Amino acid sequence: MSENGFDAIIVGGGLAGSTAAYVLAQEGLEVLLIERGNYGGSKNMTGGRLYAHSLEKIIPSFAEEAPVERRVVKERICMMTEQDAVTMDYHSPRLAKNGSDSYVVMRGEFDRWLFEKAEEAGAVTAAGIRVDELIIENNRVTGVICGGEEMKADVVILADGVNSLLAEKAGLRERVKPSQVAVGVKEVYGLPKEVIEDRFGLTGNEGAACLFAGSPSNGLVGGGFLYTNKESISIGLVLGLEHIGESDKTIDEMLTAFTSHPEVAPLIKDGKLLERSGHVVPEAGLSMVSTLYGDGFLICGDAAGFCLNIGYMVRGMDLAITSGELAAKAVLEAKKRGNFSASTLKSYKTMLDQSFIMNDLDVYKNFPGFMENPRIFNQYPAMLADIMADMFVIDGKPAVPLRKKAMKHLKAVGLMNLAKDGLKGVKSV
Ligand SMILES: Cc1cc2nc3c(=O)[nH]c(=O)nc-3n(C[C@H](O)[C@H](O)[C@H](O)COP(=O)(O)OP(=O)(O)OC[C@H]3O[C@@H](n4cnc5c(N)ncnc54)[C@H](O)[C@@H]3O)c2cc1C
Repeated sequence: MSENGFDAIIVGGGLAGSTAAYVLAQEGLEVLLIERGNYGGSKNMTGGRLYAHSLEKIIPSFAEEAPVERRVVKERICMMTEQDAVTMDYHSPRLAKNGSDSYVVMRGEFDRWLFEKAEEAGAVTAAGIRVDELIIENNRVTGVICGGEEMKADVVILADGVNSLLAEKAGLRERVKPSQVAVGVKEVYGLPKEVIEDRFGLTGNEGAACLFAGSPSNGLVGGGFLYTNKESISIGLVLGLEHIGESDKTIDEMLTAFTSHPEVAPLIKDGKLLERSGHVVPEAGLSMVSTLYGDGFLICGDAAGFCLNIGYMVRGMDLAITSGELAAKAVLEAKKRGNFSASTLKSYKTMLDQSFIMNDLDVYKNFPGFMENPRIFNQYPAMLADIMADMFVIDGKPAVPLRKKAMKHLKAVGLMNLAKDGLKGVKSV
């Protein structure tokens, strides 16, 4: 142990924090991992699907021992109006190939497992304890204060999630703005395994991931999600926080409308409501990445703003895990040099720049701006549904060429709007 106390104190036993603690403890450092919830994961929530590549590098074949639900082999994207649904289905073994596989997880169980892995590796864990403040001496973070008790370390890793009140209070990052986040709400419905497999065309441990755009968000930026667990279904909404007050429905009403939609209700029919939860999701991409390091501290995971919402997928868990790993590697380097100042800890930023995290955030940096367009959430789903109705509804009236009927719907949205939005959409991805 360092003469200052611990080598590292990690705040937050979510995926970012537990990964950092695991990597450091594996290397023999004295680490304290502090989680305010009663156990790692007790406060955490996700849609959610974990892309395996990040954790696979740290704990190979982790899915064989971790409490994962199902491996996703089926993707479904559905554009909805209040009555209609236009769905695209993609089913492929390529989604399940080692290295590009992804798993539906329940964070209560999954994070608890990772938290305990950190403990097994030698980290000292403290659950049910909230860090109230950082200790800052001579402009350097030197520890944390919990319930009036001071704990010191050479370095503090902040992995305390999207709001990171500690970093904000210490002036290490700005307050998160409503325009930078969404609110996520989720319900979990219990159903027998066989019923889930029949409804989604799955076998064994196969799973499905479904995204819904249009009426679920009631015209606001956002959408619906559904993931199959072993014996339950996770279903919910992600809604941009900034404009939520403008909606004529409450979040609860939107969730009820979504879960009772004719396309969705049969999927959860007879399911027993097991759980309801809510959480904030960072979704402004690169523009909300915070300060990442300084004298005696590093910030990772959602606390650093590392999350990607690109409409048809949310990715925060793989970014949290890899940023936790890289923060740990920067601490190992600093320990070797005996120097925990910003000049050494900046290696964290260098490693992030070389990783998929900064690359992917940069590639999709214009996407949040593109999503601000309300046509995406109301006019386009309706246009698509109207075109499908023209193709498939036969009522005996004299036929009109499809191109003419389709043109009517395209013109209703505006050909210039379509061209502009199409171009902007292509450029943003
Ligand atoms: C509705 C929704 C759907 C999502 N879907 C997906 C998805 O499908 N795939 C995906 O990859 N990502 C998804 N995400 C994003 C993903 O869940 C996050 O990016 C991820 O949880 C970030 O992990 P983290 O460890 O950085 O933060 P968190 O999971 O938030 O962990 C932070 C931890 O810090 C603890 N903590 C906070 N303050 C303190 C304190 N003062 N003292 C002690 N402990 C503290 C908390 O209790 C918590 O355990 C979704 C998010 C939401 C809300």
